[in-house]
Amino acid sequence: MNDTDWEVLISADRIQEGIRKLGAELTEIYSGKKIIVIPLLRGGFMFAADLVRYMDVDLQIEFLGAASYGEQTQSSGEVRLTLDTTLPLSGRDVLLVEDIIDTGLTLAYIQKLIKSRNPTSLRTIVLLDKEIRRKVAVEVNECIFSVPDRFVFGYGLDSPGGFDRNLPDIVALKE
Ligand code: 5GP
Repeated sequence: MNDTDWEVLISADRIQEGIRKLGAELTEIYSGKKIIVIPLLRGGFMFAADLVRYMDVDLQIEFLGAASYGEQTQSSGEVRLTLDTTLPLSGRDVLLVEDIIDTGLTLAYIQKLIKSRNPTSLRTIVLLDKEIRRKVAVEVNECIFSVPDRFVFGYGLDSPGGFDRNLPDIVALKE
């Protein structure tokens, strides 16, 4: 995509500042614990990679993959697991890290899956909240930024066709 097609909604500096604050809070919350951090792929990879570097906590990383969008800019409403964890989650403190919550269907599905494995605790943190589009109630412990009802990409999130995840800012298509 062409950089004249989009505008910056949240700059790389603001993103880093928000994540740094959250990392410090999580360092306090998980003090003395050994936790499992689960970035939800693919969109959550960049957020999680930055976040864990701001966390002074003993942690292991596992991955879960979910897909709901396909090649569209609207959620299909159907969630598929594309990658599963390898470590047991039973008896563990789990931190789920997601890029964006839109309808809530993906997180509802993934939280149910994780809870069925009996972790000691589950905390869900999300970089972006598109609250106006919520279809199901989901418990999220922290969302860093609110975004309007627009298709956003960059900083881990893809533009149509799976591109532009490497942009440092969160951007939206010009209306
Ligand atoms: P939900 O299941 O909450 O409707 O959607 C969550 C998933 O849809 C996210 O993990 C993300 O992959 C994708 N998604 C939702 N809104 C957007 C958006 O504005 N841009 C991009 N690139 N993906 C989105």
